[in-house]
Amino acid sequence: MGESRAALADPLGGDGSPFGKAKGMVFPRIVLVGHGVISELPETCRQFDFPSVGAVITGPRTAELAGNRAAEILTHDGFSITTVIAREATGAEVDRVSSELRGRGVKFLVGVGGGSKIDITKVVAARLRIPFLSLPTSAAHDGISSPRASLHGAGTVTSTEAAVPVGVIADTAVIVQAPFRLLASGCADVISNTTAILDWRLAVRLRGEEFSTTAATLSDYAAQEIIDHADAIKPNLEESVWIAIRPILVAGIAMSVAGSSRPCSGSEHLFSHALDRISAHPGLHGEQCGVGAIMMMYLHGGDWRRIKNALLTIGAPTTARELGVTNEEVVRALAMAHSIRTERYTILGDNGVTRDAAERLATVTGVVA
Ligand SMILES: [Zn+2]
Repeated sequence: MGESRAALADPLGGDGSPFGKAKGMVFPRIVLVGHGVISELPETCRQFDFPSVGAVITGPRTAELAGNRAAEILTHDGFSITTVIAREATGAEVDRVSSELRGRGVKFLVGVGGGSKIDITKVVAARLRIPFLSLPTSAAHDGISSPRASLHGAGTVTSTEAAVPVGVIADTAVIVQAPFRLLASGCADVISNTTAILDWRLAVRLRGEEFSTTAATLSDYAAQEIIDHADAIKPNLEESVWIAIRPILVAGIAMSVAGSSRPCSGSEHLFSHALDRISAHPGLHGEQCGVGAIMMMYLHGGDWRRIKNALLTIGAPTTARELGVTNEEVVRALAMAHSIRTERYTILGDNGVTRDAAERLATVTGVVA
């Protein structure tokens, strides 16, 4: 994350100080969740003392869903708003949006959209050094409030440090209109915290990695909330968004506390990243992490059926077929996952699982039939 440092230079008096630890954490300062909270946008901007010139960054579809409305509400209230329609989250698109906004005196941004538009806004805000508000139109993963953004390159996805929104306005009446598959994916992403935390604890024991009880507790709380309320998360029900969105936001906070994605990203995320590379038509990030969590929980010797049942109850994928990938791709992704990000130690160890073991793992957990 941008502003988090494991150790600041010369903290607390520097040399000879018996206690030289320092850490920075950046969080959203205002988080509004509820029906119709989009109308609070002008008031929220005033609370931050934003000057009157700002921009809304949104997508072609999310403009109709909420982006245009956000711009109208602000304009009606006396703000001078430029609306930029952004496309895919790529470095080139970040360059284009940044240059379109430069020289216009824009002093704040409002990112309105799903993951990719929020990600573009995060990076553009960091580049222009101005604050931004996040107004998600869907909740497909835990990145809404996190300090990282995913940018797509030539066949790869890179995780980039980016600005944290100063405020999050999560309007449940807007988010419920997004396809349910997206919310189910966001829930699966949070459920996958369960194995990420086990991997983290393992790395602490085996590698002496730094641990944050606070971050792990927040991350676990978020996962358990979703698992415990799985039967209340249903399509076309605004209350489901209400139940799911808070744990999704808390997961982002856990990453801000840790200063890394560690509390919410372990072997199950490595599996998802491997599948993104291998499969011609990968599933959604959160969906793949959920399926990964079933299998990684099996490797940890934990209650993998509980993970699987929660995903089934919500209606998130639990099999290769439901992800839209082949059995072979799942097995190859499992065997390759350990090599994706070697500094992130997980249950997969340094050598990963063999192909035979990968086949058995996927079969015994029912991911591959
Ligand atoms: Zn994730």
